[in-house]
Formats: sequence, C-alpha cells, structure tokens
Amino acid sequence: MKLIDPIIQFSAEIQTLRRAIHANPELCFEEHDTSELVASKLTEWGIPVVRGLGGTGVVGILSNGSGKKAIGLRADMDALPMQELNTFPHASKNDGRMHACGHDGHTAMLLGAAHYLSRHRHFDGTVYLIFQPAEEGGGGARRMMDEGLFEQFPMDAVFGMHNWPGIPVGQFGVTAGPMMASSNEFEVIVRGKGAHAAQPQKGVDPIMAAVQIAQSWQTILTRNKNPIDSGVISITQIHAGSATNVIPDEATLIGTVRTFDLDVLDLIERRMQTIAEHTAQAFDAAVDFRFKRNYPPLINTPAETAFAAGVLQAIVGENAVDTHVEPTMTAEDFAYMLQEKPGCYVFIGNGEGDHRSAGHGLGPCNLHNPSYDFNDALLPIGATYWVRLAEAFLQAA
Ligand SMILES: [Zn+2]
Ligand SMILES: [Zn+2]
Repeated sequence: MKLIDPIIQFSAEIQTLRRAIHANPELCFEEHDTSELVASKLTEWGIPVVRGLGGTGVVGILSNGSGKKAIGLRADMDALPMQELNTFPHASKNDGRMHACGHDGHTAMLLGAAHYLSRHRHFDGTVYLIFQPAEEGGGGARRMMDEGLFEQFPMDAVFGMHNWPGIPVGQFGVTAGPMMASSNEFEVIVRGKGAHAAQPQKGVDPIMAAVQIAQSWQTILTRNKNPIDSGVISITQIHAGSATNVIPDEATLIGTVRTFDLDVLDLIERRMQTIAEHTAQAFDAAVDFRFKRNYPPLINTPAETAFAAGVLQAIVGENAVDTHVEPTMTAEDFAYMLQEKPGCYVFIGNGEGDHRSAGHGLGPCNLHNPSYDFNDALLPIGATYWVRLAEAFLQAA
C-alpha cells in the first residue's frame, strides 16, 4: 500500500479525534459538538469554513493556484438512536445514541485529508470539504443542497465513501451505475365494516381484503416488472383487530419498497395502488393508500467511477479494488448529490471485526449493530484516498 507518510505520522491524532467523536454521538441535525469540533480543527489548520449549512453542516474551503476546477469530498457526521454494548474507553457516553455506522470514522478520515492538504498544496483549484448532518433518515445532504451547497460552492464532481464490514482492510469496492437502492415506505389502511365474528355477513372483513392485497403485490415483482430489473416489496407490519370474536373496522399494511431505478419504482408504486384499490373494491372495502419516497437510488457516473478506481488502484494495488462490487439494497442520501453532480461513492473495507478483539460485546461487527466499531486502521487509508483523489482531479497543468 502506498500511504502518504505525513498522514501515517498524523494517524494518532486522527484516531484521537475519531474516538472523541465516537464517545459523543449526536443524532440527525443535533451534531452541535461534532460540527464545532470539525470547524475548530479546520480553522486551527488555517482552512476557511462556512458553518450552519443544513443546520449543523460545515464546509471547508481549500484553494490553491489559479485553477478553476473544484472537487467536493463528503463525509457524514450523525449517529444512530441505539444503545452501544461496547465497553472500551471510547464507547458512547450518550445513553441511547451510538456511532454504529462509522460516521465518526468518515468525519475523521476527511479531517485527516484536510490536515495534509492544508500543508501540502499539490493541487491547482479548489477542494470543498463537505461535512454533512443527518444521513440516517434525515436527508442532511438534500437539506445542504436546498440551502445552496452547489450554488455557494460550485464543484465539477462530488465523491463519497462508506466503511464496509466484510470487505478486508486495505481493499475497496465500487461499481459504475446503481450501487445502492432507493428507499421508500408505504402505509395502506383497508377500511371495512366491523361485525360480530360469528356474523360476518353483517360486516365487511378488512382482514381478508388486506391478505389478498399483500399476496397480490408480490406478483408485481414477478409479472409486471422486467425480470432483469431489481426490486423488493417487503410488508413489515400488519395491524388489525383486538379480539377473537370481533371483525375489526380496518387493517393496516406497512412496509418498504427498494429499487435501483426510478422507472421501476414508478411502476411498482402505481401497480401497488391499483391492486390495493381494486382488490378492496372487490371486497366492498375501501383503502387509504400512502406511499412516501425517501432516498433515491445511488448511481455512480461511469467516468468518475473509473477515475476513482484508478486512484484507488494506484494506492492499494489493482487486485485490492473490486470495480464490480455487488450493489446493496440499503440506501444512502449521498444519492441526492449524485442526482445533481457527477461523482462516485466507494466502499472502504472495514474488515471482519478483529480490530475489536479487546473487550467488545456480542455479535459481528456489522453496521447498525450494538457492538460495531469503526476500524482505526482505515484512517490513513481513507485519508490517503481523499488526498490522492483531490490531487489527481485538480492536477496542476
Ligand atoms: Zn447507517
Ligand atoms: Zn452510514
């Protein structure tokens, strides 16, 4: 691996910052201490900052030379509402909050790159260091954009990175095109007419209608969607009734839909509504159909993906970069940035969890797991990638 020496020498400080952030996890749009820490470090290193974009978002601005090109490097800062099981010294001090997705590490890696770039300006143009709030469901990326991210800081491309448990340390995964799914949720209330369970003829049973709807929806995936396209409909909650001898008034179906393509999503939503309404009608029932679109699919642009993969291969070697990594049905709000700018999102291997051999809790080191911890061995690797990416993108003529 060709890591940058000054970054290796600075690793202990990056690790201290990472662990300080881990110990003080903050939820969506509440990242006040984290944002303060980021802004004060950037300022200390002589990097101009703009604060308060998207609430707690921070943008650092590093310019050099007279080049007009600009690149955005993005990290997320928020934690999750869950209880940490780890007992090591840097475990969460905030009850019910935990950095279980490694955003502490993402923030620290970008800080490590910022520190180096502030001292070694081997680039011609501008690097925008984007520290965003609220990735975990809050759409912090969208909010920063709504508040003028790309107008105030015009950039040619934007790049993101997420640690990925299961990919070995020192290896990366990336793919052109869709890499993460759109995430959407639905709530469908089937309205019938309650009755005595022994006298069903006097009512309209919403449970029978709801069950038929639930079954029929799965046929959208096998009969309406092109088999080549990916899509998931998962009903994760069914609520109805309160007694063994009462037919209730209504039944509720709740769940999620995931796709890699918005046309497929349009098709699924439309067919779900048609099936729900017409099936209910066939049972003399009615439906309230609610479908909410959350994050769009994350789609890497081909040229920037090839560019990022080339930079990674120069650092860790050709065989350590999987350029056709399997896409995942999880979602990520960096997708919004990629809807407006070319760019690429990569997975950086977080290993199998051996880094937690001292004193960790139960369970594998998976994301959103109560004994997860970001692997500090990644800090100089990720920081080196950010630096080399920015230098290559803004190469002096
Ligand atoms: Zn997460
Ligand atoms: Zn995450």
